[in-house]
Amino acid sequence: MNTVNAGETERIGMHIAAQLRAGDVLLLSGDLGAGKTVFARGVARGLGVSGPVASPTFVLLHCHAGLIPLHHFDLYRLSGTDAFYEAGLSDYLGGDAVSLVEWPERCPGAMPECCLEIRIRYGPEDDERRIEIRPRGGFREVRI
Ligand code: ADP
Ligand code: MG
Repeated sequence: MNTVNAGETERIGMHIAAQLRAGDVLLLSGDLGAGKTVFARGVARGLGVSGPVASPTFVLLHCHAGLIPLHHFDLYRLSGTDAFYEAGLSDYLGGDAVSLVEWPERCPGAMPECCLEIRIRYGPEDDERRIEIRPRGGFREVRI
């Protein structure tokens, strides 16, 4: 679907959050500035996370307490799949948390097959974005 401002993208994230369960993994793909972190913030708000939700670009992973714990990854600076395992990040995927992964394509092979794929693309207007949401590998359908 299309959104015409950041607030709409955030609201879609909140709407999805209401349908999430512990262990769910969401992969967020899209160019720099597309709105992955905006979407992640919406999911966080929907899960009752009250603090700031920024792109953890320099940190790789932020863990937030919420109704369900939220693990927010940003793998932009990761060199590859080996680095993901060496940093111990795989311990934070799934489990009792909801995991949101920005730049999952940085470590092909380390992401679970069963996941919700979110793709955000720039639209023709400045603030317009196209958001596609697809369950992969047996992930249940979600309402949008
Ligand atoms: P990413 O994490 O994908 O690199 P961010 O979420 O950090 O991108 O930034 C997206 C930027 O684009 C923000 O400054 C946001 O305000 C702006 N923006 C404008 N329109 C939209 C939209 N429709 N959806 C999401 N973000 C938007
Ligand atoms: Mg980001």
